[in-house]
Amino acid sequence: MKILVQKFGGTSVATQQRREMVCDKVIEAINKGYNPVVVVSAIGRKGDPYATDTLLSLIENKSTSNKREIDLLMCCGEIISAVVLSETFLKKGYKTVVLTGGQAGIITDNNFGNAEIKTVKTSKLIELLSKNIIPIVTGFQGMTENGDFTTLGRGGSDVTGAVLGDALKAEAIEIYTDVDGIMTADPRIVPDAKVIEKINYSEVFQFADQGAKVIHPRAVEYAMRGNVPLLIKNTMSNAKGTVISSEGYNKKLITGITHMPNRTQISIFFEDDEIDNNELFDLLADYGISIDLINIFPNYKVFTIDGSDSERVKYILDLKKFNYKMINNCSKIAAIGSGIRGVPGVMAKILKTLKDNEIKVLQTADSHTTIWCLVKEEDTVKAINALHKAFEL
Ligand code: ADP
Ligand code: MG
Repeated sequence: MKILVQKFGGTSVATQQRREMVCDKVIEAINKGYNPVVVVSAIGRKGDPYATDTLLSLIENKSTSNKREIDLLMCCGEIISAVVLSETFLKKGYKTVVLTGGQAGIITDNNFGNAEIKTVKTSKLIELLSKNIIPIVTGFQGMTENGDFTTLGRGGSDVTGAVLGDALKAEAIEIYTDVDGIMTADPRIVPDAKVIEKINYSEVFQFADQGAKVIHPRAVEYAMRGNVPLLIKNTMSNAKGTVISSEGYNKKLITGITHMPNRTQISIFFEDDEIDNNELFDLLADYGISIDLINIFPNYKVFTIDGSDSERVKYILDLKKFNYKMINNCSKIAAIGSGIRGVPGVMAKILKTLKDNEIKVLQTADSHTTIWCLVKEEDTVKAINALHKAFEL
């Protein structure tokens, strides 16, 4: 059996016309001799009637409500989507069975809202596939050993697709969305961004981890673990898309640019370098606050946090009477490319480009595949476009 996992995002199932296109992609795979497993997200995007955010907005106080119940609520979006899509297949004469994440065998821990997948029991899926029935699996969800519904974190339908692809030893995992593939930058920010034809798992993981929404980083990890090729394609076009595998490789120095919005930079000053200032990091860890772009000097520490943690961190810093400076609304730009390893002058070129465009750099960092620059959020579009041009992407 040649199994193919095909995941369709929210915009791909948003209208009846698009659901017809989804069916066409699946039927095309069947005609090529594949046994497809379909994974769907909730219909539409923020603001649409059955989108995850809309469902969440029905609950007033998310902090006091039970996380278990919120997960149950969020799971409804994908259930609606899968059932509506199954009707389109039925009309075309194809047999489908809709499965929740749990029914499809995805067993998770009970960390509601961001559950971790423990095991995948594939027997139900295999049974359906061997009868030539198309399983339509609700993305973004799993089930605990006790039968509670859980969700896998935002963008989690990609994770469902990838984990099933790995567990079923699929020929490939296709992620269908509203763009022609992984691009050199978000086309909403850089209108002339180009599709990257081939890319390797680790580069795309960096892209995803550093804010490119097009694929979930955990999905890349699962595909990589199983060495299953991952393809990003457009439901609404016949473009070839992006092939992600262990071999994909890019000749350019920089493969692409992405960013993480809503970062807050915190600088803390110490008068006496004898102070045990690790206390601060212990406190942040105790409060579950993750930090990055960390630079430590004897009298000075600087790092960034997610903007949603700003208030809590401010509370901790005031409570402990730290001398600090906080800059809200920052954006962490990442220039990614395995080609930068050991090449001198890349950082210099980035800094010069930003300076020439009058963009103030608040902080930088680098690894062997990525260079980060922290800028003010209002400079994001200008910075990404300038770098995209400078590196001839
Ligand atoms: P879906 O609902 O199909 O999962 P997402 O909104 O999660 O779709 O992801 C697709 C979107 O990701 C695109 O519409 C695009 O704006 C955005 N995106 C961000 N960075 C990139 C990139 N480098 N390449 C392609 N798309 C990107
Ligand atoms: Mg997505």
